Amino acid sequence: MLTRHLLPDEFDLLLDGESGFGVQQLQGHLRDCPQCREELAMMRRFVLAIEELPELAPSRPMADLVMARVNVFVPWHVAARDWALSWLPERPALRIAAGVAATGVAGASTVALGWGWTHRERFLAQGWLAQDQLRAAALDAIGTGAQAVLGPLATQVPGGTLPLAGAALLGLGLAIGTSVAGLRAVAARTRAIGG
Ligand SMILES: [Zn+2]
Repeated sequence: MLTRHLLPDEFDLLLDGESGFGVQQLQGHLRDCPQCREELAMMRRFVLAIEELPELAPSRPMADLVMARVNVFVPWHVAARDWALSWLPERPALRIAAGVAATGVAGASTVALGWGWTHRERFLAQGWLAQDQLRAAALDAIGTGAQAVLGPLATQVPGGTLPLAGAALLGLGLAIGTSVAGLRAVAARTRAIGG
């Protein structure tokens, strides 16, 4: 016999219709205790009332209003991808066109960078970067950056072509990324039409 009234989780067991030795003991207490009996009946009415409530989905503006006030942490790479995607056109054909255009731009800038690099002595001799120290620092920074991008590969590439290779890799990465986005859009569209 229980020498006390039922606890909240014991009421839960009874409401869930559980059975077993522990529950039999609880039911034994219910038979002798009008107070717990009344409390259980009240809880049962409450549960039934909740179940009869209509299921409402929040309206779309409501969800937007709430989310506008929620500070969502977005990692920088996700933010960068969303920003890049927001510039992509909706239609797959336009996306491919954008990919081709980006590939062209990336290729052109790679060529321009390469040309600039191979002709750097001319610029430098003409005082494009006037001070020797400034010039040395700039070249050093470019070389170090390319080395960081290329990693182990850097040791196998002659020093003069390092920045060129870095720029080419960057351009290639941009072009591949844009093309993949376009192709995925087309694939999704094809699946939607097929299914
Ligand atoms: Zn009781």
